[in-house]
Amino acid sequence: MTLSKRVSVKGKLLLVEDSETQGSRIQAMLERQGYDVIWARSGIEGLKMARAERPDLIVLDVVMQDMDGLSVCRWLKMSGESRDIPIIMLTVRGELQERVEGLNVGADDYLPKPFADEELEARIFAALRVKAAELELKKRNTELQSMLHHVEALAITDPLTGLFNRRRFDDVLRREFAMTKRYNTPLSCLMVDVDYFKRINDLYGHDAGDRVLKGVASRLTIRLREVDTPARYGGEEFAILLPQTPKQGALVVAERMAAVVRRDHFDFDDGSASVTVSIGLAESRDVTGNAPEGLVKAADSALYLAKSRGRDQVVVYSPEAEPPASA
Ligand code: GH3
Ligand code: MG
Ligand code: MG
Ligand code: MG
Repeated sequence: MTLSKRVSVKGKLLLVEDSETQGSRIQAMLERQGYDVIWARSGIEGLKMARAERPDLIVLDVVMQDMDGLSVCRWLKMSGESRDIPIIMLTVRGELQERVEGLNVGADDYLPKPFADEELEARIFAALRVKAAELELKKRNTELQSMLHHVEALAITDPLTGLFNRRRFDDVLRREFAMTKRYNTPLSCLMVDVDYFKRINDLYGHDAGDRVLKGVASRLTIRLREVDTPARYGGEEFAILLPQTPKQGALVVAERMAAVVRRDHFDFDDGSASVTVSIGLAESRDVTGNAPEGLVKAADSALYLAKSRGRDQVVVYSPEAEPPASA
């Protein structure tokens, strides 16, 4: 352990005082207490130094030649840069009007002249402590906010793919479906299932399977709109909500997704594979009833058809089509 001779500085103070005798006395006294003191000998100089030096606190004389302390205080409290610096005004004893005015223009505290050194020191100490507590609170608040954001994000995200999770999807579905029924606007839903995915796991292992899932997920989100909600619905199944989108538009999106997935190979340590997806598409206006799950069920039955018709294709749900015996 090394012993440092440097006295720890308690803080940087700006003293604004136009009297030489009083100024040098107060400066010497505060320096003895361990403060770093800069001294401005006029109001104008005080304003400049407050900006340039960014002191922790300002001790401000009220009666000065060029610009009185009240005006200096008003200026300091008006500027965003210096607004948060605590100000202690040195007023003339008995001048009630002056003290009230000092607080009115934003001074944090005042001290009538002449004062005991201990009192000035105590008031400086108190003001700095309040300031430090405020700063600490602000910092803690920001930390809490970002923690909260993080936790909220985790609660709605699928950890493997980074897409929304089922819970989030269900929330958005409920909201969007209600809107769609109320305003009779189209809402499309895609159910996407990876074809023969089990084979990937069986042939290349579970980690390879996970990589394929991530790859498919990122391909599904290419060129989606901000308002769309892509989610991992289950194991190798994804659901995507497309608000304000009729089935014709959603079909284009779905075909494009299928094409992008089909196009790319996935390379593994012991080989490579390509995968395809089957997609079921349903639009809210083709779904009767007010239950949002109806839309997912419709997309699911279209997906079932896509599977039974040979996979690697998109099928649009049609209410007239005979529903499958079992899905
Ligand atoms: P189909 O074309 O009929 O969809 O065949 P499939 O093999 O894709 O369907 P099946 O439902 O038989 O298999 C899905 C597989 O997905 C089974 C399961 O082990 C796997 N799976 C589910 N979740 C995960 C996951 O998070 N990671 C990996 N690697 N595999 C998963
Ligand atoms: Mg004076
Ligand atoms: Mg499946
Ligand atoms: Mg599958």
